[in-house]
Formats: sequence, structure tokens, C-alpha cells
Amino acid sequence: MRIARTAPDFQLSLQGSIGLVPTMGAFHDGHLSLFRAARAENDTVVASLFVNAAQFGPDEDLDRYPRDEERDARLADEAGVDFLFVPDAEEIYPPGFQTWVEVESLGSILEGEHRPGHFQAVATVCLKLFNLVRPDRAYFGQKDAQQAAVVRRMVGDLAVPVEIRVCPTVRDEDGLALSSRNAYLSPEEREAALALPRALQAHDRSLLNGLEVDYFEEANFEPRVLAAAVRVGGTRLIDNVILEGDKP
Ligand code: AMP
Repeated sequence: MRIARTAPDFQLSLQGSIGLVPTMGAFHDGHLSLFRAARAENDTVVASLFVNAAQFGPDEDLDRYPRDEERDARLADEAGVDFLFVPDAEEIYPPGFQTWVEVESLGSILEGEHRPGHFQAVATVCLKLFNLVRPDRAYFGQKDAQQAAVVRRMVGDLAVPVEIRVCPTVRDEDGLALSSRNAYLSPEEREAALALPRALQAHDRSLLNGLEVDYFEEANFEPRVLAAAVRVGGTRLIDNVILEGDKP
């Protein structure tokens, strides 16, 4: 596997069909499942690792977001990634940058309502990555169902020539969806966080009593999901379940 810091470092080396997996690092089995899906369907696999400051709100966890490039590089290599693209901020946002992509309705509900500007930054960085890597397919997790829906909408609306693939949510044995943010949880908080998958599975918001709930709502993201966001201590967690009858 090669690590590239700028697009010209790898663009000419890409061969055959290209699969891209955009990430913010701190890899876990959820990320690895996307790398493996990309590996199975493409000649060349590119994973991007970019903690996109623009998609964090002023009071969010940008400063403490877990970063360990060496470990990530090893895991990506083992999962069959060919190129790990780790751009500097200027590679994505060159001096004078002023062009943003806004997915209006889909980007303003649920997560978008609680994280203003979040999906504008997500859509913009994804379009930028698509333009730099020119993938045939890009891989996203169902865990972030609204993100996948926003990116799919953008790609359709702007005729971006990439196929969006969405892979199932990977969970720990206890049911908690894997997330880089789970690392923030104390053992007690982790126990409390299990209410999130349980409430979603049971379609029962009352199981979240005692936690701060940002939303617990159905959304038609194709497939339709029941999605929720909660705060456990200082950690904000999101999860969703596909509603019966809508399983892809
Ligand atoms: P992140 O690094 O958190 O931005 O996530 C990068 C990609 O991995 C996104 O498409 C996420 O939806 C996906 N992802 C994160 N957690 C999981 C999970 N538990 N299962 C499947 N995909 C995931």
C-alpha cells in the first residue's frame, strides 16, 4: 500500500476500475468492511483519511477526534487498500476556497438540524474527493444513513459519474454500532449507550429515558430507517435501523 499526500502522488498510478472509501480515520471493523467491499469489486482501492474540520461544529469534538495514522495505515494495508490518500487541509481547501455544495432538504433535517453546516461540508468534501480520485464506485456505511442519502442525492443532482454503494452497519457483539467516537465512552457510559440500539430495534423511544435525545424519527432515506441521535455524557452517538419491508 502507498500513502499519498497530494492527488498527483497517486492519480497516474490508478488502474482499471477504482473504488474509493472516504473516511476520517480511527479505523474499526466498520471501515474495514467498506475496504473489503471495495476490494471485492474494483481493480484499485483508494481510502481517503481526512478529518474534515468544516463538518464539525464549533462545540464539537474536532480537537479530541482520535488520530493514529500509523495504525490506520497498517489496518488499511491488511484490508487490501492500494492507496491511502491523506491530504493536508490545503489540498482539499486551497487558499481562497469559496465553493460549497448544499443538498437543501435532505441536508437540513435530523442530523442537519442539529449540526448546521454539517452536510454542506460532507457533500463538498465528497465531491472534491470524487474529482481528485475519479472513482467508479464510492463506499459508505449504512450507519450514517443520512450521509449516504445526501451523497447519493448530490451525485444524482449533479450527474457525478460515480456509483454509490452502501454497506451494512457493523456492530459490536452487544449491539452497539462501531464508531470512532465509542472510544470516548467510559465503561458506565458504554453500558448506558446500549439503550440506543435497543430502542431502535424495539422501535421504543422510552428505552432512551435518562439520555439526552436529539431525535428519534423515521426517515425515508431509501431504504426507510428509524434513526436516532443521543448524547451519553459528552459523547454524541447516532444509529439507525432499516424498517421492515424496506431491507435492500
Ligand atoms: P468516518 O470515518 O466515521 O467518517 O466513517 C467513514 C465511513 O465508514 C462512512 O461511510 C461511515 O458510514 C462508515 N462507517 C462508520 N461506522 C460504521 C459501521 N459501524 N458500520 C459500517 N460502516 C461504518
